Amino acid sequence: MHGGRDVANDASTVFDVVILGGGSGGYAAALRAAQLGLSVALIEKGELGGTCLHRGCIPTKALLHAAEVADETREAAEFGVLASFQGIDIKGVHKYKDDVVSGLYKGLQGLVASRKVTFIQGEGRLSSQTSVDVNGQRVEGRHIVLATGSVPRSIPGLEIDGNRIISSDHALKLDYIPKSAIILGGGVIGCEFASVWKSFGVDVTIVEGLPHLVPLEDENSSKLLERAFRKRGIKFELKSRFSGVEYTENGVRVSTENGKSIEADVLLVAIGRGPVSAGLGYEEQGVAMDRGYVLVDEYLRTNVPTISAVGDLVPTLQLAHVGFAEGMLVAERLAGLKVVPIDYDGIPRVTYSNPEVASVGLTEAKAVEQYGKEKVVTLKYNLAGNGKSKILKTAGEIKLVQVKDGAVVGVHMVGARMGEQVGEAQLIYNWEALPAEVAQLIHAHPSQSEALGEAHLALAGKPLHAHD
Ligand SMILES: Cc1cc2nc3c(=O)[nH]c(=O)nc-3n(C[C@H](O)[C@H](O)[C@H](O)COP(=O)(O)OP(=O)(O)OC[C@H]3O[C@@H](n4cnc5c(N)ncnc54)[C@H](O)[C@@H]3O)c2cc1C
Repeated sequence: MHGGRDVANDASTVFDVVILGGGSGGYAAALRAAQLGLSVALIEKGELGGTCLHRGCIPTKALLHAAEVADETREAAEFGVLASFQGIDIKGVHKYKDDVVSGLYKGLQGLVASRKVTFIQGEGRLSSQTSVDVNGQRVEGRHIVLATGSVPRSIPGLEIDGNRIISSDHALKLDYIPKSAIILGGGVIGCEFASVWKSFGVDVTIVEGLPHLVPLEDENSSKLLERAFRKRGIKFELKSRFSGVEYTENGVRVSTENGKSIEADVLLVAIGRGPVSAGLGYEEQGVAMDRGYVLVDEYLRTNVPTISAVGDLVPTLQLAHVGFAEGMLVAERLAGLKVVPIDYDGIPRVTYSNPEVASVGLTEAKAVEQYGKEKVVTLKYNLAGNGKSKILKTAGEIKLVQVKDGAVVGVHMVGARMGEQVGEAQLIYNWEALPAEVAQLIHAHPSQSEALGEAHLALAGKPLHAHD
């Protein structure tokens, strides 16, 4: 235990908030609650920082950056730079990735300690509506926040063995580079690994049951990503549902319901993540659940007045920044501040593959559903007209979705570094900006943000660098 009282020897301690799970959702709730003067116990069975820091966002983005360096080295001659690509030193890649993670981990541990959060290392279980049992002791709180997160999911008949059939947890630690890989699931995690592995020289095939990669994105973004992946030699089988897997002499063979059979060294199962709630006492204490998820209202309150829940454990978008936002909202509510429900459509979403896919707001299909076809206007701006994108040799588009004569309700971007543009896109969506208002803002030249400006100039009826 670090920082604060030793609750083991102080049975009378009742914390204002007891938080179960120290990932993005849990630690954000802890930091904000402590900042607001509440006494906080944070219980974590593994490492503070959870999935995002140790098995998710951060390590994958480090791998993606190493992949980008590999591609740039290979393509250096296209920029007149003499360099020769000699291969990937996977040990070196892991060292770089692990150094990034451990630096951030130390920083986070320091932050939690400096805010006087009582950190309790151990596996906790909800033992009443106001307590969690951990390490044989009872930790009491006026309020409980459940934040036990999620783990990789599989399907019946598909056993993850950690060797040839692996999850993202294993893929992040693989100490060799397979010659070939099948990735089951063309969502964010599947596409990010496909991108990394291709850059590392792996022959990759994605198997996706739905008609498109990144199926939650606007169809235009999916199609642009598919085009770019095809160009990079990343193979994918769409509308292909998994039907079985068997071991071959040196790898695996995956078959699909539509009769395809694909062989590779490894199979990465990336079909989603399921909530961590089984056996933790939630149901026994009367918390309403649905398929393992804890049900909450728009203020992240469960049906039990003393219990809130945040992050991947609740059925909202499984993203670290959603966990941060939900954790902070709960802390502020418990501290008596006025809070506003989260607009989940206004949350930026990024797939950090090469190229990147970034979006905020409604897809065209959702906008049509919400406002009617005749009310929805769209505009596509091709990055070919953007100087900085040309310099970077990236292709892609920015697509805007607007309610006729009204605000921009969706921004969908594909291209290198588009994840960095989503900050402005998010302000445009969340401030319900009109195209003419954005067109009024002057963007730096040459920058990729200029493409967002140009797209809005065009939507406002005064295109500059755009062909009619
Ligand atoms: C490969 C991958 C890449 C990702 N990339 C991104 C990205 O780029 N951007 C993004 O926004 N999101 C990304 N995510 C998603 C992001 O990591 C999650 O949304 C986020 O970590 C959820 O936070 P959480 O606090 O709800 O859960 P978690 O981070 O899972 O934390 C839950 C914590 O609770 C602990 N715990 C569980 N049960 C108990 C118990 N009984 N007692 C004590 N402790 C317990 C766990 O050990 C864990 O530390 C990625 C995820 C993966 C897997």
